[in-house]
Amino acid sequence: MVVHGLLALSLATSVLPAADIQAKIDCSKVKCLALTFDDGPGKHTRTLLDLLKKEKVKATFFVTGKYVEESPSVVRRAAREGHAIGNHTYSHQSLPPLLAYEIIDEMRAASTAIEDATGKRVRMFRPPYGHTDQRVLGIAGEQDLAQVLWTGTTLDWSLRDVKKIKAAVLRLARRDGVILMHDTVPQTVQAMPAIVKELKKRGYHLVTVPALAGAKGLEAGVSYP
Ligand SMILES: [Zn+2]
Repeated sequence: MVVHGLLALSLATSVLPAADIQAKIDCSKVKCLALTFDDGPGKHTRTLLDLLKKEKVKATFFVTGKYVEESPSVVRRAAREGHAIGNHTYSHQSLPPLLAYEIIDEMRAASTAIEDATGKRVRMFRPPYGHTDQRVLGIAGEQDLAQVLWTGTTLDWSLRDVKKIKAAVLRLARRDGVILMHDTVPQTVQAMPAIVKELKKRGYHLVTVPALAGAKGLEAGVSYP
């Protein structure tokens, strides 16, 4: 047990935390792109995390609170491995038709589930279906959340085809872009090795949304990108 403890300690001190490695990437100087995955955690999320770890790239997960409660260990692992975790509400309802207190409940319950799983504060949220308005954005601000949308959506949930999803990502990729995908779509996870390989070949640094925002960070109540 003592040997094991010492080994764990030496590993902990010799390995730079993933977040620090990511912090060294300056997106004002190099070509960055943020891959984002919504609606999880799901049964393919661990496979995706294995791939991201192998390729040493970071992503952003906008997770649904009720699924975080079902699989907190997956979300804990994603956070520990340097990925950014965002709030995608508790039960994935379209927010604009809801009453203010219902929107607040949706945001708070998801943040609580994520914070219980990861031990980290949640600073960003993505509205389900991208449905939002000034009222939703205002409430997000009151909940200390920045709103994160995207520059390109793959429509992977509709394509359900490895080759088409890969082609969509490569077509949408651009410097400082934010690509929307779903780790709940098996073909998206299957397409990721080839996508990551090609994006690296094209010179992209794959970073989290906060890393893309750089030193100025994400401001609560503001919509990005
Ligand atoms: Zn969603």
